[in-house]
Amino acid sequence: MIQQLASIDSVEQVSEVPLLGASLAQLTKWVEQYGQPAYRGKQLHQWIYQKGARSLLDISVFPKQWRAELATFPIGRSQIHYQAKALDGTIKLLLKLTDGQIVETVGIPTEKRLTVCVSSQVGCPMACDFCATGKGGFKRNLERHEIVDQVLTVQEVFGQRVSNVVFMGMGEPLLNTENVLEAVRSLNEDIGIGQRLITISTVGIPGRIRKLAEHHLQSTLAVSLHASNQSLREQLIPSARQYPLDALLDECRDYVKITGRRVTFEYIVLAGVNDGMEQAIELAEHLRGFQSHVNLIPYNPISEADYQRPDQRRLQSFMDALKARHVAVSVRRSRGLEADAACGQLRASYANKV
Ligand code: SAH
Repeated sequence: MIQQLASIDSVEQVSEVPLLGASLAQLTKWVEQYGQPAYRGKQLHQWIYQKGARSLLDISVFPKQWRAELATFPIGRSQIHYQAKALDGTIKLLLKLTDGQIVETVGIPTEKRLTVCVSSQVGCPMACDFCATGKGGFKRNLERHEIVDQVLTVQEVFGQRVSNVVFMGMGEPLLNTENVLEAVRSLNEDIGIGQRLITISTVGIPGRIRKLAEHHLQSTLAVSLHASNQSLREQLIPSARQYPLDALLDECRDYVKITGRRVTFEYIVLAGVNDGMEQAIELAEHLRGFQSHVNLIPYNPISEADYQRPDQRRLQSFMDALKARHVAVSVRRSRGLEADAACGQLRASYANKV
């Protein structure tokens, strides 16, 4: 982006890449192309990221004539198409993108935090058997501005600063690494969300975890493991056929080595499928001595699959078995169930809301 902008020397050639997601340095270069002084870049940055400007026409500190000239240049904000609030305060938003596609994002408030669960793609090609998004197929990658927009929008809807971001909405972030990384940079530097408070969740794409490690992010990597052996994993996650469990775990070990950060393993708990004592022992074997943390996610029901949620006792025994084998483990509390906003429930259920 920087190189692209630097090579532009006349206004006519200014690229139409939406501004959202651009850094202060990039915005400064951008205003300078119009012959404006550098401080306009700072103003632009503030209006986009702090004041929530949706159009350059809104920026009242800019000269009128210049504003008129910029009127149609995209900042890159999406429209709220629909919102649903669950009893626990979780809000699911459907955002309409400029090409009419709809993407889902979820704001999850707790006493001290406001977490946004962002999407990285419209739909998802991974087709995991328990996931509503996967059942709906894949449309396209999200651009960086469409990711950053989700966080700004949740911030506006809640009237509160976002503290945490998890890439656990629709899509597979490591199939869209470049835009995800640009968005992470922007969330961190432009919006001020600590890198450590940003989590990227992946089901694993061969070679991509190692590649991500080379960026030395301080963010957390969460890996959707969901099974204690290869054949069970293949049953649940079709893409696992091309990615043996051992190879995935090796890459995760490299990630820890390269970044010095532990990995979180997500494990969706499906009653009678992967929650037996045998699987707990097998999982603990794989993770022995591994600098990691297991996050158990009780299955959130979706209409397209007939898995069952585990009962409390079974979940507790599974957790106890891991703990007894020195595996760090916690259970993720489901949020937003009634708004269909819990993990795996994000889906194109908006057809009737259009
Ligand atoms: N593609 C990424 C991120 C999106 S899903 C990934 O796979 O990690 C975020 C998390 O929700 C993943 O761990 C996913 O497996 C889990 N999930 C999907 N469907 C679910 C469901 N029905 N119940 C509970 N968790 C689910």
